[in-house]
Amino acid sequence: MTNYLNYCLANHEWLLDFIEALVAIESPSDDPAAVNLCGAELASRLTELGATITRASSSTAGDHLRASFGTGDRQVLLLGHFDTVWPVGQLERMPLKRDGGKLCGPGVFDMKAGIGLATLATRALMAQAALDRARIVMLWTSDEEIGSITSRAMIETEARKSEAVLVFEPSLPGGALKTSRKGVGQFELVVRGISAHAGLDPGKGVSAIHELARQVLAIERIQDLDRGVSVNVGIVQGGSRANVVAAEARATVDARAVTIADADAIDRTLKSLAPVLTGTSLEVIGGFDRPPLERSAAVVRLYEMARGIAREMGIDLHEGSAGGGSDGNFTAALGVPTLDGLGAVGDGAHAIHEHVEIEALAPRAALIAGLLTRLCSASFGGAGSGPA
Ligand SMILES: [Zn+2]
Repeated sequence: MTNYLNYCLANHEWLLDFIEALVAIESPSDDPAAVNLCGAELASRLTELGATITRASSSTAGDHLRASFGTGDRQVLLLGHFDTVWPVGQLERMPLKRDGGKLCGPGVFDMKAGIGLATLATRALMAQAALDRARIVMLWTSDEEIGSITSRAMIETEARKSEAVLVFEPSLPGGALKTSRKGVGQFELVVRGISAHAGLDPGKGVSAIHELARQVLAIERIQDLDRGVSVNVGIVQGGSRANVVAAEARATVDARAVTIADADAIDRTLKSLAPVLTGTSLEVIGGFDRPPLERSAAVVRLYEMARGIAREMGIDLHEGSAGGGSDGNFTAALGVPTLDGLGAVGDGAHAIHEHVEIEALAPRAALIAGLLTRLCSASFGGAGSGPA
């Protein structure tokens, strides 16, 4: 571990330059041309380090990058994204700069610094020739911030081939890892009623809006915050005029759950909602886009491994849970051991004060290198080691 720490400290400036080069190229998910420029920079830097690069293009998002190091049988997947939530031009409002102990800029924390950390850790392994029996596959995608629609299949394919998946999303405060993440679902409830003139024939209509109001109360009853189950009717729409009994109304519902069982229960409850007012009908579409990342035994074993390595470095590593989903949710749901939040220590994801802590970068990269060494050299019970 001392070797890795020394190596990462010696390459501290290299790491900062790598991260800054990515942040300097703005890469909003919904601008494929821009996001591809950032991807090209990343691909060229990884190629220089000896990676074999495959580019997967899609018609609706930017290209995704797969970079492979080493030729061994045992695969460890390093996962993350280089798209950000910030539009082109945001650099003028939140410039890329080193400010005291902070490196600031759009997308630095979520999660371009994480890509830098994973890359330096991989370099450290190669410098120690620790990659003879394994291969490290990096998957850096370009549509995570908009739901990973075009990258999900690729992520799942690579995860199935892997012993373990390390996700370089931002850490929790103080550097804690994410050993559970809520699953995130979105549902649309469409209510159909019978329209009528509100003044001349009020008794002939059945209001979709009045029915929707009853359904909103039923949906609210699903919420159970103690269990980590939350539902939010975030948008309601309906009706056409004040003097018309509404023929249609709709609601958009955000739902979150900690366990796959609770996510399934929410799905079932919403899809079996029954109309209260005679003459109305309901339709519920949608579902959980990202299943929960459960704190399974495999996740805990991976976390304990990281915690042990951190302890050797004199770092007290903690764990926590996140309310939002990441691509780690997909891989964990496949049963592949997944550890999330291995990215930089910092603050302000999706916020104007986004930054990472410069001092914490080299120790973090050394910790990742230590974890990778362990995963590359010993069977862990993931996909690569046969039936568990
Ligand atoms: Zn992210």
